[in-house]
Amino acid sequence: MTGAVVPPIYATSTYKQDGVGGLRSGYEYSRSANPTRTALEECVAAIEGGVRGLAFASGLAAEDALLRALCAPGDHVLIPGDAYGGTYRLFAKVLSRWGLEYDPVPLGDPDAVRAAVRPSTKIIWVETPTNPLLGIADIAALAGIAHDAGALLVVDNTFASPYLQQPLALGADIVVHSTTKYLGGHSDVVGGALIVRDRGLGEELAYHQNAMGAVAGPFDAWLTLRGIKTLGVRMDRHCDNAERVAELLLAHPKVTQVLYPGLDGHPGHEVAAKQMRRFGGMISFRVAGGEEEAVALCGRTRLFTLGESLGGVESLIEHPGRMTHASAAGSPLEVPADLVRLSVGIETVDDLLADLTEALG
Ligand SMILES: *Cc1c(COP(=O)(O)O)cnc(C)c1O
Repeated sequence: MTGAVVPPIYATSTYKQDGVGGLRSGYEYSRSANPTRTALEECVAAIEGGVRGLAFASGLAAEDALLRALCAPGDHVLIPGDAYGGTYRLFAKVLSRWGLEYDPVPLGDPDAVRAAVRPSTKIIWVETPTNPLLGIADIAALAGIAHDAGALLVVDNTFASPYLQQPLALGADIVVHSTTKYLGGHSDVVGGALIVRDRGLGEELAYHQNAMGAVAGPFDAWLTLRGIKTLGVRMDRHCDNAERVAELLLAHPKVTQVLYPGLDGHPGHEVAAKQMRRFGGMISFRVAGGEEEAVALCGRTRLFTLGESLGGVESLIEHPGRMTHASAAGSPLEVPADLVRLSVGIETVDDLLADLTEALG
């Protein structure tokens, strides 16, 4: 109507009807649909190569809606042996109480995955790269295993982003995002998304999105859309910077192991090179001196801000064992105590290298 190049924020809960049931463009009530959210949903579907996208209040809200829409008590899900802590907690503390069964498996080992499939397995849940250990799973191989078993392959594509990895084209049925991370990209909004390549599945999930109600609001949808405009340029810079940081860490005497799929020595390097455009902006590493030194290091950087989350333009550092993955303590998914995770931002790389060099001492 106006030619505005940016979709407006439709701050409205309801819509005028032209006579009872006379909806304009299908809009009725903003839990069911809102034009700003529709713009985001169409955008995420397009960039993942799907036919339908759905935007939620958070990544975990998207995961919860997916699992409760598609699973019933007694159904079984295979989850990554090093899943994101919040995903693990959703299975272990919430959905297990409603009879959903799950087993963590090492997704880097397709034979182990095949052996763990049960007749009741409904979903194989994949993260690649994983948070925080940067494990790599072969999406095409796991899609084959899932489909042979009559199960769906779900890929949490948060770490890679659709710019670096396209799971639907590799055989996945559903892509999950925490849009809080690289899609939003500026650490200013929490959100989640589901994207599918089958229209029927999209309808089923959309029905449950509305029935459960954890939708993205119009302001959040607008911020996420604004972030996505620069996804490609941001990701290239994240990758450029992370490659330099990984080299620095690899050569540092106080670093005992660097987990970055771009390194030749990473066990998932070949698979990652096959299915990713580049290797992303996330790096984890282990330090000599154990937990005490890992925690101290997190307090010594100046440009890397100590904080949870990831995928924003500013660099972050954290201690997964005590922060993002504290909920996995004492479980099979516990992470090493000497592990430090970096979300490498888009700052001038020399400043990032100097900050880490100084902090490592
Ligand atoms: C952050 C994150 C989530 C959860 O998303 P929220 O937006 O925090 O609810 C899920 N998966 C991965 C890989 C994440 O990093």
